[in-house]
Amino acid sequence: MKRNILLHPDPRLKKVCAPVTNMTDELRALADDMLATMYDAPGIGLAAPQVGVLDRLIVMDCVKEEGEAPRPLIMFNPEIIAGSDDLNTYEEGCLSIPDQYADVTRPAEVDVRWIDRDGNEQTETFSKLWATCVQHEIDHLDGKLFIDYLKPLKRQMITRKMTKLKRELARA
Ligand SMILES: [Zn+2]
Repeated sequence: MKRNILLHPDPRLKKVCAPVTNMTDELRALADDMLATMYDAPGIGLAAPQVGVLDRLIVMDCVKEEGEAPRPLIMFNPEIIAGSDDLNTYEEGCLSIPDQYADVTRPAEVDVRWIDRDGNEQTETFSKLWATCVQHEIDHLDGKLFIDYLKPLKRQMITRKMTKLKRELARA
């Protein structure tokens, strides 16, 4: 089932989310809904607060090549346990900030630990687009958006555009 994606600015996108302490069918259904919502958008990552749920849960799939098998990842309580000194700059976007893109520099490689859909602990080293995406999504769980990395003027410009867009959508 598809869920509604919250648009910036929204107070729920600025909250620190709570760790998941108890895996339930409801949480698994939420994760599956988030994947469906992400693929439909289409996007490569989505965090629970973006659908209004303040739990530490993200989903992603950065496979982009035509004909390559999808790799949906569901991560409860994802944590970056190490990051490289090497940095990488990607032009980032966000499903909560549609049509706005900007360069963000982050560690090029990160080690991430999380709990999967079956309740098992996983760790993996992510690089390239996957590394950027997982850091972007984990930021969401701490109430941080990619525009928070930009200079204030650029951030304010994007927020003004989004406020206007939301007003137009509300009127439509
Ligand atoms: Zn985002």
